[in-house]
Amino acid sequence: MTAQPPPIDLGASGRRPEVRAPADEAEQVRDRLTGVGLEQMIDIHTHFMPKPMLDKVWAYFDQVGPLTGRPWPIAYRLDEAERLHVLRSFGVRAFTSLTYPHRPGMATWLNDWCASFAAATPDCVQSATFYPEPGAAAYVAQALDRGARVFKAHVQVGDYDPNDALLDDVWGLLQESATPVVIHGGHGPAPGRFTGPSTIARLLARFPRLVLVVAHLGLPDYADFLDLADKHTQVHLDTTMVFTEFTEQSSPFPPTQRSRLLDISERILFGSDYPNIPYPYLSAVDAILALDLGAAWNRSVLHDNAARLLRIA
Ligand SMILES: [Zn+2]
Repeated sequence: MTAQPPPIDLGASGRRPEVRAPADEAEQVRDRLTGVGLEQMIDIHTHFMPKPMLDKVWAYFDQVGPLTGRPWPIAYRLDEAERLHVLRSFGVRAFTSLTYPHRPGMATWLNDWCASFAAATPDCVQSATFYPEPGAAAYVAQALDRGARVFKAHVQVGDYDPNDALLDDVWGLLQESATPVVIHGGHGPAPGRFTGPSTIARLLARFPRLVLVVAHLGLPDYADFLDLADKHTQVHLDTTMVFTEFTEQSSPFPPTQRSRLLDISERILFGSDYPNIPYPYLSAVDAILALDLGAAWNRSVLHDNAARLLRIA
């Protein structure tokens, strides 16, 4: 997060725009799952974090439109217990608590919080993060010892080069333990100094067995990130926000790339960005189904691939 964006125009009412989800949203999402032969789903890209931090994230989105120049109302601005309840009501049986530092000295605090949260929340896959700083490899090793099963890296918010030498031992540990890393490394929705496919390509050239989960399918450089997935069989992609009407307006997924989603069907995973989405969860699920890639593909993406990757029995 760099310069403060100008406040968005709230219009004559002065009120923030709101997202209206259907009253029976949970039932509708579960019906969609039943329709493709699933009882439940897994969401690899959700954000639970310490309250002071989440409040800051929400304040950011309130002012924003920064990323896209558009208002970004938070659809699920609920207290934590209610947020968990709503997510579970959709039939989500496992999810993550992805956090990411924007400066040094924060990661251990976040990792401690995630460990406590997962201990109290058995359906949350214990998540962790890191920052290029002295001691990073030590606290990453500790997080792994304590049960972290997925990591998150955010290249734009962190404003660091993933190829920074201070991270070499971190990547080494994550590669050796085959721990998935959800990495937001694409240029969208907001570019950073180090974002883009070439940075990730360089990282993979150095750590070719890294289990990366490219967030947002690498938005907007979908084809380049699909190329990376073709080249590196441990590279996965999450669907977070992609294919929705909201994202199609700014970064449409090229129809020419659609069949490639079938070619690597075992490495595409559903993600939502819950709760920080400017539309109902149902829209994200429907956007996947609207691709019309078949019930088997839907089952893989909405459940089976994440179950395998995150080792959920
Ligand atoms: Zn996210």
